[in-house]
Formats: sequence, C-alpha cells, structure tokens
Amino acid sequence: MRPIQKSNKLADVCYDIRGPVLEKSRQMEEEGHKITKLNIGNLAVFGFDPPDEIVRDMMLNLQNAAGYTDSKGMFAPRKAVMHYTQGKNIAGVTIEDIYLGNGASELIVMSMNALLNSGDEVLVPAPDYPLWTAAVSLSGGNPVHYVCDEQNEWYPDIEDMRRKITPNTRAIVVINPNNPTGALYPVEVLLQIVELARQHQLIIFADEIYDKVLYDEAEHVSIASLADDVLFITLNGLSKNYRSCGYRSGWMVVSGEKRHARDYIEGLNMLASMRLCANAPGQFAIQTALGGYQSIDDLVGPGGRLLKQRDLAHKLLTDIPGVTCVKPKAALYMFPKLDPAVYPIADDQQFAYELLAEAKVLIVQGTGFNWIAPDHFRVVFLPNSDDLTEAMGRIARFLEGYRKR
Ligand code: PLP
Repeated sequence: MRPIQKSNKLADVCYDIRGPVLEKSRQMEEEGHKITKLNIGNLAVFGFDPPDEIVRDMMLNLQNAAGYTDSKGMFAPRKAVMHYTQGKNIAGVTIEDIYLGNGASELIVMSMNALLNSGDEVLVPAPDYPLWTAAVSLSGGNPVHYVCDEQNEWYPDIEDMRRKITPNTRAIVVINPNNPTGALYPVEVLLQIVELARQHQLIIFADEIYDKVLYDEAEHVSIASLADDVLFITLNGLSKNYRSCGYRSGWMVVSGEKRHARDYIEGLNMLASMRLCANAPGQFAIQTALGGYQSIDDLVGPGGRLLKQRDLAHKLLTDIPGVTCVKPKAALYMFPKLDPAVYPIADDQQFAYELLAEAKVLIVQGTGFNWIAPDHFRVVFLPNSDDLTEAMGRIARFLEGYRKR
C-alpha cells in the first residue's frame, strides 16, 4: 500500500513542548519509572485547584450548556470580557469585538489562518511560546524571529525587530508576560513596539494569558491600552490565571484601528462560524471567573506557594556551576542558560533525552522555543517545594556528571 503521509502544510510546523522527548517519558512511565514533569504549565495537576466558585457554577450550568451558542460566544461571558478589557484600559471594545474560544490556542491558530497569505511574514519572539511560530507556518506565512535580550531582562530587542521588518511583514507577536522567560515588559518597551507597528502599519498580536501571574507586586500593562491608531488582537483566557487549563476557555479581543480591518474581521467571523462555537461549559466559566472575586493573589503574593516555589527553584538552579537564570517576574517558567564553556551541548534535544534517562526529570529544550542556540532549557516551578528540591537536586547531579565528561 502507498504510505499515507501528512500534508505539506505541516512540513515546517513544530511543537516540541509535546514532542518526542515527552513521548520517551511516556514510554519510561509505562516501564514503571517515576518521572518528575517540569515540562508543562498545567497548574491543576500540581494541586493548584481552580477556584471553587468556577467549578460549582460550571456544574450548575451544565444543563444549560448542551446547545451550540453564538459562534463568537454567549453574551454574558463576552460582556464579562468587555469589562475585563475596560479594567485594563483598552478603549472602544464592544461585544462584537470579542471572540470566545476553546482556549487561547484555538484563537491563535484562527487569527493567523484568517490573516496570512503565502510569503507573508510575522515577527515572533525568540524564545517564543512555540504555538505562535507553528500557527504562522501552518497558515502559510513565514515566522521571522526577533531576539529577546537575556542581558536586558529578556526584553525584546527593538533594533532587531526593526531590522527584520520587510515589505512582507504583517504583524508583530508580543507575549507579555512571557513564556518561557517569565519577563514582564515595561511601558517604555511596549511603546517602542507600538511605534514600530504604527510606522509600518503592522498588527500587534498580544498574548497576555499570564497577566495576573505576577510576582514582587509587579503590574501588567496591556499593550492595546497604549494606542488607538494600531490594530491590536489581544488574547487571554482562564487556563493560567484561574488554574483551569482543562476547561479550554479563552478569548480574543479586537481593538484599536478597526476601521481598516473589516475584511480581516470578516475572515475571523467566518472561521469562528466554521468551528460553530467554543465549548459552552467553558464559556460559563469565563462569566463566573471574570465576574467574581476569585484571585490568584494568595498564590503569587507574599508567602504565596507560587512565589515561594519560584524563589526556591531559582536559587537551586543558579547554585549549580555554569547555570545562570534571569529571575522571572511573572508566569510559571524559568529559562536557564547553560554556559557553553562548561556544558558544550551540540544538540539540546539529545541533552533533554539524556537528562530524562539519567535524572528522570522531563524538561523542554530551549530550541523547542525557537531559541537560537542549544544552551537553554525551560522548567516549570509548579511541583511542591519537596518535589522541586528533589528534581533540582537530580538536575544538579546530572550536570555534575556532564561537566566531568
Ligand atoms: N499562550 C501562551 C503564552 C501559553 O503559554 C499558553 C499555554 O501554555 C497558551 C497561550 C495556550 O493557552 P490555552 O490553554 O488558553 O489554550
């Protein structure tokens, strides 16, 4: 029989967070090994339960959630999103500008599919949350990576961004707070990005899914609040801020210079219609989450579990010779650097395999985030302090062995 092959569209699509190293980890688990998973920002499985009120309301609403809804979503949760955007000072957003989705993920793919033609370029950060790069490629566009500068708190290198704009560039993706670096961008940086978008008539896609997961009393500014003469597509959802990854509840807000985007918006509406609607129980969850008093503050504020674990993981990692790491100001991740003079790694996926096999710890290699060199990896700091200490100890011992090779 003729082999059945995947489509050519997938030739350049890559999503290593759930790639071959995870597959190897599954096999090892089947063989009876206990693996510590520092690979995915999946809060609930580490005992970060979603707020009770959200769960209760979802259960109560299940009976009303059996039908399809409007393609963009039900009125009440969209209204709740509208109030949320007002709270973030994003001006001029109406109910019609809001789309609910099965997680931000679905909307990221939809937003790129509706926009890109072959040869169109989108500026995506390096390192990035790799769905963005994958979505651009799947949509027929070319992802062009601008560098975020580790020497400068992992802020986007604006000059690099500027250099990479061509007549084919359509948009800039800004992930703030950032996955995988944990960076939180100050207003001055955001304003420079807005200015570039303004000069070159680019759309700004703002992924703000960690906008409440902030440490050290940091504040998040939505880039869409900084101008009304640039088109912004802001994405957010319940997965992280409300520990509800599995409910698949996200949203997308169109704001700013909408008048010239009617055709694109028509495309978004068409794709939203084609998938009928986002899951209705998840839509009810949005209404409860944004309308109520649930908060992540007790986890990220003084004495909070996430804050303590960030500090612990950062200390344990940076105590290892040849490992440095910018301390995250937000989100759930760290993106440490392995000094190439100490750890001459040629292939960081191989490094991740070896760490898994020897230390039984699952991480994601830096190049999985489209990072430019095989000298970083990403960990989550979600396991409790005892498990984190154990996992970091095993990473330290593995690296000690690596240094002696
Ligand atoms: N954007 C970023 C930056 C993420 O880190 C993630 C998930 O880890 C997503 C989007 C996907 O979110 P959702 O669960 O809403 O699909």
